[in-house]
Amino acid sequence: MTSAAHRIDPLERGHTQRPRTALRVAAPPAAVDLDAATRAATDLLHALGIDTTSESLRETPARMVRAFAELFSSDDFDLTTFPNDEGYDELVLARSVPLRSVCEHHLLPFFGVAHVGYLPGERIVGLSKLARVVGHFAARPQVQERLTTQIAHWLDDHLAPAGVGVVIEAEHTCMTVRGVQAAGSSTVTSALLGSLRADARSRQEFFALTRGA
Ligand code: ZN
Repeated sequence: MTSAAHRIDPLERGHTQRPRTALRVAAPPAAVDLDAATRAATDLLHALGIDTTSESLRETPARMVRAFAELFSSDDFDLTTFPNDEGYDELVLARSVPLRSVCEHHLLPFFGVAHVGYLPGERIVGLSKLARVVGHFAARPQVQERLTTQIAHWLDDHLAPAGVGVVIEAEHTCMTVRGVQAAGSSTVTSALLGSLRADARSRQEFFALTRGA
């Protein structure tokens, strides 16, 4: 990351403890060569015994490649935070944020919802930004466990909250449409930090609210 990426919010003056607000969140580094990927996809399909010469399959390698490129890209966004002037200290929870990603072991989609919450400290953040953080880390080959902890640690680093909680419930198509074909099964992962991890009552409240979805 270049130093130019660190744009310090003027509001941040006087809050020198954690000056990392309004950071521009860069999309994952991407040098996408769609033509090379389309040639490779054609080879892959041929090697799998799929004839792509018919009218309806002729454009399939290119469509395949564009679909993956879309799944692996996310928009940049500014995470603008605000001083917690009202001293709000109860849980803020974005519940059932839609989520889709691609498992890095099979390159098949997994999808579901994320519940993202935090107990504010000095800074608060626009609610829509919680969904943007989810989308940002989901837009790459992932495993659900890592995705969960990346979202939690990122919010902890940038908001310096009293606590962070992230729960992801997702269906992995590598598990439900192939392999064990456990149709309808979902995988639940969670990451708790700070008082949401340490304090049993906060933890219970968080899980009770996420379950109310
Ligand atoms: Zn998989």
